[in-house]
Amino acid sequence: MVSKKLRIAICGGGIGGLSLAVMLDKFAKKEIQIDIYEAKDRFAEVGAGISVWKRTWYILELLGLEKALGEMAVKPPVEEFTPGFTFRRGDQLEEGHDFFRIVAPYGSITLHRADLLKVLTDSLPSHVGTHFSKRLLDYFQDDSGLVTMSFSDGTIAEADVLIGADGMKSVAREVMYKDLADEARRRDEEEARRLESFIQPTWMGIHAYRSLVDTEALLKIAPGHQTSTTPVVHFGKDKHVVAYPISKGRYINFVSLVSYPEQMGSKLEGNTMVEVSVSEMANHHVGWEPQVQQLISCVEKCSRWSVCQNRDLPHFVSGHVAVLGDAAHAMAPNLGAGAGQAIEDAHILGRLLADDSVTAENVHVALQIYETIRKPLATRVADYSRMCGDCYDFNYIPDCIREAGVACDSDEGLKLLSETVYGMWSHHWTGSPGEDWLEAEKMLNESRSESDPVLETVARL
Ligand SMILES: Cc1cc2nc3c(=O)[nH]c(=O)nc-3n(C[C@H](O)[C@H](O)[C@H](O)COP(=O)(O)OP(=O)(O)OC[C@H]3O[C@@H](n4cnc5c(N)ncnc54)[C@H](O)[C@@H]3O)c2cc1C
Repeated sequence: MVSKKLRIAICGGGIGGLSLAVMLDKFAKKEIQIDIYEAKDRFAEVGAGISVWKRTWYILELLGLEKALGEMAVKPPVEEFTPGFTFRRGDQLEEGHDFFRIVAPYGSITLHRADLLKVLTDSLPSHVGTHFSKRLLDYFQDDSGLVTMSFSDGTIAEADVLIGADGMKSVAREVMYKDLADEARRRDEEEARRLESFIQPTWMGIHAYRSLVDTEALLKIAPGHQTSTTPVVHFGKDKHVVAYPISKGRYINFVSLVSYPEQMGSKLEGNTMVEVSVSEMANHHVGWEPQVQQLISCVEKCSRWSVCQNRDLPHFVSGHVAVLGDAAHAMAPNLGAGAGQAIEDAHILGRLLADDSVTAENVHVALQIYETIRKPLATRVADYSRMCGDCYDFNYIPDCIREAGVACDSDEGLKLLSETVYGMWSHHWTGSPGEDWLEAEKMLNESRSESDPVLETVARL
């Protein structure tokens, strides 16, 4: 028997899962039971920065979080077009030079991840069930759609709908694609193998070395250092550096991204994250400009992340189960977009599930609308993120540069490269998640009429 009160289980309490819980509560027009199952013993984020942009900020404002987050940003964001990231050549001994500046509504809003997570957890209403040290191991859907989940501590739980917000190595996605492949195997072995290829993420051939630099220490050795006030991307062959101030300027988020293009798409071996020596990272930047060397000399601790992707999943949804955030579309960090996309997922999915017409019996229709609305943009942003990194690393030659017959790293080439990159970044402030919601709402309204072809099409998917 399915319950009258819609029971929603969210596995994973990262930025995506928590945003969904807050969104559900904000828009609930009926009684919903929300339970978050988190593998760790508390909600926690890595000690690093995050940048968000106009589209994401729109959703954070919708949740009423802009004041709290604005107080934690370097300066409270303003709607006007404001300078954001500066592009600079980094891989030469002499002082580099700025060659482009992104200008965008709100500029680049840079935050400490822990601050964003705290604002989200502080907004969780007390009636949301939070369950820690609950690592999802498996789930089973019966014919009525009831989902039974089993966890690493030996317990089980039931829900009418399961949202896998469990990150890049998602177990929810793994089980979903194993089930889809098993079902396909009865008809078509090749299709089954294709579906199996989405179970595990693939390595993008990129290592991201992440650190926080103490701004006071940096300014002692390099007064007025550009990154203490301005987000900067330092371009270089096969590697680039991203640095920007966070926590009201107390720290500088420092990331060195080193790519091995020939390894793109290979199997992920070992741990995604390991602590490494500062010298391992520094050795990649021997011969780089003074601004980068000054940052590196202030790095005390460093971790190395293998950047992985879940590329172009054919489905975000199967029956009463959906994946969200990195579980659905883990992507390269080069556009600072992964968390923003997770929050956009949470916005559409949360508002759909919160609608009073959505029940345990028809929830699969709402999930399909979520997939229809969210998959195209998330997929496009993932592609842009990959291409953008190739531009920073001089590993992608856009047509405009080819046609101009100039080298990527010539003055003209850098100008054309920047314009290409700017075009990809501009998705952050093009259109509005509000427009996407209106489209989702229209589909939901149309699906209410049983004779409506939209319902029949969506329900068949
Ligand atoms: C170097 C780097 C820089 C980045 N910079 C930016 C940026 O500037 N802007 C931006 O928007 N994005 C950025 N991103 C991407 C962003 O970090 C991710 O896209 C985002 O954190 C995804 O959120 P999520 O909630 O989907 O997943 P996660 O943050 O991975 O959260 C998943 C949660 O699920 C839990 N979990 C895992 N497995 C299970 C399980 N089996 N059962 C229960 N719980 C489980 C985890 O403990 C975790 O709490 C960056 C990424 C990297 C690597």
